[in-house]
Amino acid sequence: MSQYIAAIDQGTTSTRCMVFDHDGAVVAVGQKEHQQIFPRAGWVEHDPVEIWANVREVVGQALARADLTGADLAAVGLTNQRETTVVWDRTTGEPVYNAIVWQDTRTDRIVTELGELGGGADRYKEKVGLPLATYFAGPKVTWILDNIEGARERAERGDLLMGTIDSWLLWHMTGGTDGGQHITDVSNASRTMLMDYRTLAWDESIAADMRIPVSMLPEIRSNSEVYGEGRKAGALAGVTIAGSLGDQQAATFGQVCFSPGMAKNTYGTGNFLLLNTGEEAVSSKNGLLTTVCYKIGDRRPVYALEGSIAVTGSLVQWVRDNLRLIGGAGEIEAVARSVEDNGGAYFVPAFSGLFAPHWRSDARGALVGLTRYVNRGHLARAVLEATAYQTREVVEAMNADSGVDLTELRVDGGMVVNELLMQFQADVLGVDVVRPQIAETTALGAAYAAGLAVGFWADEDELTSQWAEDQRWSPAMDAGTRDRYYRKWQKAVARTLDWVD
Ligand code: ADP
Repeated sequence: MSQYIAAIDQGTTSTRCMVFDHDGAVVAVGQKEHQQIFPRAGWVEHDPVEIWANVREVVGQALARADLTGADLAAVGLTNQRETTVVWDRTTGEPVYNAIVWQDTRTDRIVTELGELGGGADRYKEKVGLPLATYFAGPKVTWILDNIEGARERAERGDLLMGTIDSWLLWHMTGGTDGGQHITDVSNASRTMLMDYRTLAWDESIAADMRIPVSMLPEIRSNSEVYGEGRKAGALAGVTIAGSLGDQQAATFGQVCFSPGMAKNTYGTGNFLLLNTGEEAVSSKNGLLTTVCYKIGDRRPVYALEGSIAVTGSLVQWVRDNLRLIGGAGEIEAVARSVEDNGGAYFVPAFSGLFAPHWRSDARGALVGLTRYVNRGHLARAVLEATAYQTREVVEAMNADSGVDLTELRVDGGMVVNELLMQFQADVLGVDVVRPQIAETTALGAAYAAGLAVGFWADEDELTSQWAEDQRWSPAMDAGTRDRYYRKWQKAVARTLDWVD
């Protein structure tokens, strides 16, 4: 009897494989970072071939560390950085260009032109739940077909496939050029701007607007079902592949937010707050996204409202790598604790424009409120506070859309080890912030989806019983201070808008 489930978490900065036991405890981890490619301002790319190699390597690492083989796995689940897009040749398996990453803003003009066809930024919102923005996958394909020599002809001949990272990996994991399956799941498909969120099918008229041949699009499947088994996939040979969700939906699943009204916020490269709205898809009036949360096998889909923030943890990376303010991400807390407050400095990291709730691709970052008094500690504070203020903007939009105020926030992701940030988050929100014992909720969610599909776990109730609280932060700031700080933040945000001509 196979006693474990593996999850592959293909994130923005690294790829992980985690092996879980039946209690949801982590048995082993393999991890590897991949190269971030910045060819020019606003462009962000990954090498998809490197990513596929890293997947095989980290699976091998994790299994070896636990002294396991593929035969010990009841199934493997996949979760991935969403929206990042690959176009590849179905015969050779070669990508025609690097993966264009979700943070990349090169599709700005394509997106504006689509809006000019009529309807502006909300042209497709009624069908796909998303505003036109550089964030989403479809226009990234348009860019590749328009800019890579010969790509459009090859695509029209039916030689090219498109996919988000899940598709690219599932195709390889199931055999690649030798019969690999070209599939995606409803959560990733709902980030392309090409899927009608009600019918869960591709909308051919939108594909036509974006000049994307429908022959390039993968088949859309549920998040929890048997897709196939590993072939030509190293240590995954013969392993059942049974779950796949975009990383934020996976984290929502891993936080067992199975009931309407439950929400989680993941603090990684960016921040993503998802609120389960049940079988009803709620259309946002406040800058949030309507997205498929998950669909288990033949059951009806569950929807979410999402607030996506482009830059949170990546601002910490930026002050580490580009300013050398700190030597490692873990140092920022001690530097921030060297002072009492932000000294009047506010840092709005609008590096990829502003996502939710603003959706302003014309914004660029700003550091404001500077005086001679401001030092390294204040800047470290301003960096961490930016994450908390951006989260408050999204929570306010969520409260307005749902008509119900959030009462506590479940958190996860790489930044939640930062206690100063977690306390400040509770302070600026005025609600409790709660971290679960298993903070690796993204990988756990993918494992859960795969495990449900093969009967390793019985149902959602069994998964819910595994969730346990680790730590809770309660608000300790008076309301006057909270409001004063937040008003300053809003003034700082206003200064970033309308920057790009
Ligand atoms: P992703 O899945 O998006 O690649 P993770 O969830 O692994 O990201 O989180 C990594 C992010 O967390 C990085 O952007 C890093 O800068 C940030 N981070 C890691 N440790 C800390 C810390 N102690 N304080 C603040 N930020 C941190």
